[in-house]
Amino acid sequence: MSKSTDIAALFDQYVMSTYAPSATLSSGSGCKVRDPEGKTYLDFTAGIAVHNVGHCHPKVVKAIHDQVATLGHCSNLFFNASQALLAQRLSKLSLNGKCFFCNSGAEANEAMIKLARLWGHEKGKFEIITMQNSFHGRTLATIAATGQAKVQKGFDPLPIGFAYAEFNNLESVRAAINERTVAVMIEAVQGEGGVVPATEEFVVGLRKLCDESGLLLLCDEVQCGMGRTGKWFGWQNFPIKPDAFTLAKALADGIPMGALVASPALSDLFKPGMHASTFGGNPVSSVAAMAVMDVIEEEALVKHAADFGTLFVEGLSAFVEKYKQVLEVRGKGLMVGLVVDGPAKEVVEACREMGLLCCAAGESVVRFLPPLNIKESDLEEAIEMVGDALEQLYGEEEA
Ligand SMILES: *Cc1c(COP(=O)(O)O)cnc(C)c1O
Repeated sequence: MSKSTDIAALFDQYVMSTYAPSATLSSGSGCKVRDPEGKTYLDFTAGIAVHNVGHCHPKVVKAIHDQVATLGHCSNLFFNASQALLAQRLSKLSLNGKCFFCNSGAEANEAMIKLARLWGHEKGKFEIITMQNSFHGRTLATIAATGQAKVQKGFDPLPIGFAYAEFNNLESVRAAINERTVAVMIEAVQGEGGVVPATEEFVVGLRKLCDESGLLLLCDEVQCGMGRTGKWFGWQNFPIKPDAFTLAKALADGIPMGALVASPALSDLFKPGMHASTFGGNPVSSVAAMAVMDVIEEEALVKHAADFGTLFVEGLSAFVEKYKQVLEVRGKGLMVGLVVDGPAKEVVEACREMGLLCCAAGESVVRFLPPLNIKESDLEEAIEMVGDALEQLYGEEEA
């Protein structure tokens, strides 16, 4: 069982086809991955914004390895130092409150939704305003929260308690508020929705609107958190603080982990028995997350993401000039989208043939999420490969 074609055939027979994988990967190091036949790729998906410190970073590997050989899991029936130390670290970097740990982004958002409902319960408030084209996960509550019909289709009846507004349009949020509204939930940069950054005017306006209307402001940082946008957390690109936010993807470098991080005012609402997770915050994921944070600090990756994001956007912007089918380059830090007039999938496939892995975000946005410790030479190589892919697709039709 080592050839790509055999593995794909086995998937076909035994794994539900919720995804449509296009290549087989068998090993990785830094920003490079290999398939079983030995072909290497530059990985600008990074496991979908998971490997912010690159594949198999030796510090993270060692931390996981040592912990799993010491105490792999102990459940939350018992204290364990690593979970508390991780919570302290996340709290001090952000809201100075408390954390709850779980295993995925959807689950972290479920926890945030439950916390908001609990906060509003006595006043009969439960409805959360989310944004069109948002993405919050695949559980029933989080597909209801997600403002995209395509993720909801076929799964109704959906849980009630969500209303939708237009992203970056403060008036549309204002119009969606009613006596049941408890919170507004946003992504600082919409990821799956097409790499769309929130505007400062919108976020600052939202904070003010929430304060005036007695609503919580919630941020889903599952994709844009952990240094990705050139700040530790995407909301730190703006002069505001949310009341709570969620993390997952990059948090523990691929060891499944989600977190809900709350402000002090929300930190003591959950009482024993009200919310739980068997694996949540287990020692292995907690030490992995702390190792990730060590690496981000030691290698100054937050600043690196900001600086290299600028370089990358500059490099890609040349293609907007060159091809009429390339409409725009946008993003924040190393969360970058190339908007094309046509199927993004076509560009993703052409890039893969050139040796660069990237992914689509919606129909027409090619999304790049390289490891934050990418080297300049690798970034330049990636820009060249995107150029070759675009030339192959759009070259003859050049304006
Ligand atoms: C990926 C993602 C989620 C869902 O995370 P899972 O770990 O797949 O459940 C939620 N919100 C955002 C913004 C995401 O990008």
